[in-house]
Amino acid sequence: MSFTSVLLDLFFPHKCVFCARVLNKGDDGWCSQCTESLPYTDNRGRQEGDHFAFCISPLYYRGPVRKSIMRFKFRGAIAYADTYGKLLAGCIREEPDIGYDLISWVPLSSKRKRSRGYDQAMLLALATALELDDVAVETLEKPQDVQAQSELGDLQERSANISGAYIVPDPELVRGKCILLIDDVVTTGSTLSECAKELLDAGAAKVVCASLARG
Ligand SMILES: [Zn+2]
Repeated sequence: MSFTSVLLDLFFPHKCVFCARVLNKGDDGWCSQCTESLPYTDNRGRQEGDHFAFCISPLYYRGPVRKSIMRFKFRGAIAYADTYGKLLAGCIREEPDIGYDLISWVPLSSKRKRSRGYDQAMLLALATALELDDVAVETLEKPQDVQAQSELGDLQERSANISGAYIVPDPELVRGKCILLIDDVVTTGSTLSECAKELLDAGAAKVVCASLARG
């Protein structure tokens, strides 16, 4: 360990991504209390949806998980991606039906990416892929901004809102491939369905999904 990293650790101690407690030596991104008490899903939170085979998620989107993801998405806590990536990669490794050829993500619109400065699902996908000794590649684009899904009610409303919002700029990239599509949070699954539909229309063979947290 270098002198600078000792100083950095002293002045900027590593904190748990979920509860912000200062981490003990050996803790890997999240603390032992959170390791015990996080809202883990059973059976990898597996749920089925239209156009995608299934979606798995290690955590439920509530309590400290929800707060943590809000900091990641809206308050610039991009360093959380490393820890999230480890959690999500662990969940993916445990899923027996996960076979895939390509890892990708649900993109933000270009406008929102510019205003936020980063695309959190891309960071999560890159970190997860790294953990899996793989790379994540961009397969989808969202040219237009639409109303935030979180501001809308039921599945029908959400599906109508994003219908046609995503495009596959390079169909050759996905043709015949099984795509593992990553997002930070899945609630109704309508965004994943819409993205999966576009990928299948562009020639992808199958889409499976993984999100850090689910509703
Ligand atoms: Zn914690």
